Amino acid sequence: MTLHELLQEGIRILDASGIEESQADAWFLMEDSLQLTRTQYLLRKEETADRAMQERYLKQIAVRARRVPLQHILGVQPFMGYSFLVTEDVLIPRPETEILAEEAIRWLNRILSGNGAAGGNGDPGSPERIRVLDLCTGSGCIGISIALQVRRSDVTASDLSEAALKVARKNAAALGACVEFRQGDLFEPVPERFRLIVSNPPYIPGAQIGLLAPEVRDHDPRCALDGGSDGLAFYRRIAAEAPSHLENGGRLLLEIGYDQEQAVTRLLAENGFEEIYTIKDLAGYPRIISGILT
Ligand code: GLN
Repeated sequence: MTLHELLQEGIRILDASGIEESQADAWFLMEDSLQLTRTQYLLRKEETADRAMQERYLKQIAVRARRVPLQHILGVQPFMGYSFLVTEDVLIPRPETEILAEEAIRWLNRILSGNGAAGGNGDPGSPERIRVLDLCTGSGCIGISIALQVRRSDVTASDLSEAALKVARKNAAALGACVEFRQGDLFEPVPERFRLIVSNPPYIPGAQIGLLAPEVRDHDPRCALDGGSDGLAFYRRIAAEAPSHLENGGRLLLEIGYDQEQAVTRLLAENGFEEIYTIKDLAGYPRIISGILT
């Protein structure tokens, strides 16, 4: 069997188990298991794949065919241009969450350059450093990306799961990010106030988890998905508790489920947030919501 035929066999097996991205996944697994770059593959694709190569590759394909996420086989997922370690203890970072990180970074840079303050009496001007909290940090992808891209930020990140924090700490160390991690339930381990609070909390209604793709349903940590019976349990708590953890003029920035814009807007408004706006994801769903506390 040639390398080309081996790749086709990989695609065929993944197709048969209903994997949509079969071509891309089959390729990534070839790159990983045979340590081949795309160019090396193109030069060598008519060469015979020896037995050991075939076995190595088809073993990984078999794991993926059982609907284990590609990221768990490779052990990494890119986010904001960085490579994050992922395990079954953390939610795999999603592309739409990059919109949240980007918006946070944009807002922080505006504040730090002095263009984001309200002006007038009591205008705090541009601060030297800015305190940021990432709640439900998981792999640490949001807080770490902020710490790496906004050098004048001091990022604290919390999570209930000690196992997730272990992964997040490894990510911070590997990427050279300075983030303070604390274990506890939402705000419990963070008594202080912040200028920006970001979070991508669990937001899937409990009864809908069973309907998700097997990669998500069976391999992302359930506690990273489950937002209670209506999916809003974390937003209720965050909206109510964030005001006592935000500085004046502080901003809350959250990822939400595709159909949660109205409900979360109401929760933020009820808790005194103003200038509420949402940002759509690439599929056109309102995915990020933000409000400010004046
Ligand atoms: N903050 C992490 C992420 O966005 C984890 C979120 C979660 O566990 N719900 O990927």
